[in-house]
Amino acid sequence: MHEYEVVIIGGGLAGLRAALQVFDAGVDVAVISKVNPLRSHSVAAQGGMNASLGNVRGPEGSVDTWKNHAYDTVKGSDYLADQDAVEIMCREAPLSVIELEHLGTVWSRLENGKIAQRPFGGAGFPRTCYAADRTGHNALHTLYEQVNHRKIPIYEEFFVTSLIRNQERCTGCTALEFLKGEIHGFIAKAVLMATGGFGRIFNKSTNALINTGDGQALALRAGVPLKDMEFVQFHPTTLYGTNILITEGARGEGGMLLNKRGERFMEKYAPGSLDLAPRDVVARSIEEEIAQKRGFEGDYVQLDLRHIGAERIKERLPGIRQISMDFAGIDPVNDPIPVQPGQHYSMGGIDVDINGQTILPGLYAAGECACISVHGANRLGGNSILETVVFGRLVADKIIEDINDLATPPKKQVEKGIKTSKNHLEKIIQSKGLENQFNIKNMLNKTMSTKFGIFRKEDGMLKGLGDIHKMQEIVSTVSIKNKELELNHALIRLLELQGMLHVAESVAISAIERRESRGSHKRTDFPERNDENFLKHTLVKGEAGNMVVSYSPVQLGMFEPEERVY
Ligand SMILES: Cc1cc2nc3c(=O)[nH]c(=O)nc-3n(C[C@H](O)[C@H](O)[C@H](O)COP(=O)(O)OP(=O)(O)OC[C@H]3O[C@@H](n4cnc5c(N)ncnc54)[C@H](O)[C@@H]3O)c2cc1C
Repeated sequence: MHEYEVVIIGGGLAGLRAALQVFDAGVDVAVISKVNPLRSHSVAAQGGMNASLGNVRGPEGSVDTWKNHAYDTVKGSDYLADQDAVEIMCREAPLSVIELEHLGTVWSRLENGKIAQRPFGGAGFPRTCYAADRTGHNALHTLYEQVNHRKIPIYEEFFVTSLIRNQERCTGCTALEFLKGEIHGFIAKAVLMATGGFGRIFNKSTNALINTGDGQALALRAGVPLKDMEFVQFHPTTLYGTNILITEGARGEGGMLLNKRGERFMEKYAPGSLDLAPRDVVARSIEEEIAQKRGFEGDYVQLDLRHIGAERIKERLPGIRQISMDFAGIDPVNDPIPVQPGQHYSMGGIDVDINGQTILPGLYAAGECACISVHGANRLGGNSILETVVFGRLVADKIIEDINDLATPPKKQVEKGIKTSKNHLEKIIQSKGLENQFNIKNMLNKTMSTKFGIFRKEDGMLKGLGDIHKMQEIVSTVSIKNKELELNHALIRLLELQGMLHVAESVAISAIERRESRGSHKRTDFPERNDENFLKHTLVKGEAGNMVVSYSPVQLGMFEPEERVY
């Protein structure tokens, strides 16, 4: 049993940024992470972080402002983002870049010594600050260093198995220590979820294998709703064969998409922005080219960087060059990169208000696992790292403000939670069922990618939901061979899979009920956006197999919905 004022679940950018803030306010805090924090998916972020620093001029010499950034973000979101949250993020962005720099992040520079900025999709200005194509690596190492410097306790390779609550509030969590196979209880006045995305419920994904949506599933089990789960981002350019991300920064540096006839097909789909239209638009365009048999055999198109030149590729995109050489056997200096769309990001997540507070007092969320709703129906590249550090800090401030009003919770619920978790694990270990969990995982991945992919349709989705329900039934009959609790990888994978099926159901139900097309959610049976009926957030909650949908209003204010032309 451990006791802290604040427990942060997640050691990515959101979790570590929050940990620094809480610690520096003199509040007792610990971080729990299922992997070493440096293996969190944040480390893989490539292209950069948006901020209207105005270091590089825009069209006709104009200078960027936070309001331009907000406009692009809201338009990119297909008007589903909450504009009060967008305003905060965009206003705070320049400060957050400088703050990371002062903590130690090494940004790429312009000739004049200022922080460099490159163009990214859906943005009217070159706004994305970057550290070559290893921005997440740079930023996460910075924060990890700072957390270690302060000696903030980190429980690493601890897998959180449940959130503890009583009638009124969240009182802590339980976690399985991977190495020893022991269940620990954490009593806390406040718990911050910073557990990242759920990309691995899909087949082709750029996400780390650990991105299984555990946090979203934990929230559901604690009775907290998820918001806008139907909005899943498919990145246009992932490496053919492995689906490793090829950053949008490659197109920001001038890369062009070509079909098998050598045509620059984005001229047709987005004449104004070409290859730098937002991700939903470019991903659909590539799928369309492939459907029209203008893709290469195996279903991919090419990303051509050759005209950028060897020197610039080596300086600005060294990671992309290395990935292409190692995993596709080609050097982008000499050959185009084979690319296809793949799952990339979860716009939806744990429902929180503008302060990162869930409906359950004492439980907060920030980063990709949360839906504070700055991305709405489609996230702009470079806005996610930004969200993690801005709201990691601001939600931590809210926790610090609230902490004095929250009494230390009693031990008994956490003790009960430890027992429940132990029983659950025991049951899995003892199971003599014949199902193999990896078959179910493969089935789930296939169902999500074929029925809830870039294009969706009612009958296919209903079939998909039925299949998810069946998988939820058979997952209870899975047995694992390793009967020890220590170092049991199969056990952790199964705990993840149980949560993934719950999260998948929430995506499925939300997608079926949204009978319109908006941002990343493209329905062939309802191809148009329908503001009259669907300019609203989807909320979904309930136990697996028994979930209910409701809606909440979108915060407008700065920009009225318009047609989205690129
Ligand atoms: C390949 C790639 C490139 C990207 N590039 C960019 C980019 O250039 N710019 C941009 O803005 N965005 C980018 N993104 C998106 C962005 O990187 C992520 O959205 C963001 O870093 C998520 O940070 P996070 O702190 O919310 O979560 P993560 O970094 O995913 O961290 C989640 C943490 O939660 C912990 N955790 C999860 N479940 C449990 C559990 N059950 N028990 C204990 N701990 C748990 C994990 O151990 C981990 O520490 C990219 C994403 C990918 C996949």
